Amino acid sequence: MSDTQEKNKPQAKFSDLGLSDSILSVLDSIGYETPSPIQEQCITYLLNGKDVIGQAQTGTGKTAAFALPLLDKIDLNLNAPQLLILAPTRELAIQVSEAVQTYARGMKGFHVLPIYGGQSYDVQLRPLKRGVHAVVGTPGRVMDHIKRGTLKLDKLQSFVLDEADEMLKMGFIDDIKWVMERIPEQRQIALFSATMPTVIKKVAEKFLNEPKSSKLKTKLKRLQPLLKNI
Ligand code: AMP
Repeated sequence: MSDTQEKNKPQAKFSDLGLSDSILSVLDSIGYETPSPIQEQCITYLLNGKDVIGQAQTGTGKTAAFALPLLDKIDLNLNAPQLLILAPTRELAIQVSEAVQTYARGMKGFHVLPIYGGQSYDVQLRPLKRGVHAVVGTPGRVMDHIKRGTLKLDKLQSFVLDEADEMLKMGFIDDIKWVMERIPEQRQIALFSATMPTVIKKVAEKFLNEPKSSKLKTKLKRLQPLLKNI
């Protein structure tokens, strides 16, 4: 599509993208009116089963871009981790986990758990034993739980690397590869990174299957903070 055609393209609606009614009603209640460009692209690709590389910073709506379609694939009757998101820091893991919880508000019985270093294992073990559908964690702690057998990945459908370049800067690249080598063969992957250093490109080449790209550098002014307490 040319730039002019792109500009004149009618504004997409969330309801055009194939998301479930349960997700659409949450978006309505938190006041998301239209998808950001990265959301429009990623939601469509991910709902169609494609792997995705999103070149996007925070503030572009990237969390909803991967969370909404991947949440829609979760089977609530299956009491096992089906979505694993790796984030570079404890703060981001908590923030993404809270966003996922909000977007999943219409999914009865859904559980997401943030797991990160510095928190006692016990606090994380209880919900893991009880069963969670999604996990958002920092690489080191996720590795520890896999090694201990307390985080099982055999039912995993989707895997997200959030802020991959930050994880690289923080020295997590080997941990990321270690985790990615242990996820099932049949899975979907979304990789998000503000920049694309060669090492990240290589990870994408090795683990992603004919990925679709979605690139957006500028932040969108109309995006608003997630309203948690509505
Ligand atoms: P993120 O880039 O995922 O950190 O999102 C940035 C902020 O934009 C978050 O506070 C989201 O709640 C908000 N946001 C994401 N998508 C939309 C949307 N389509 N409409 C309005 N706000 C949004």
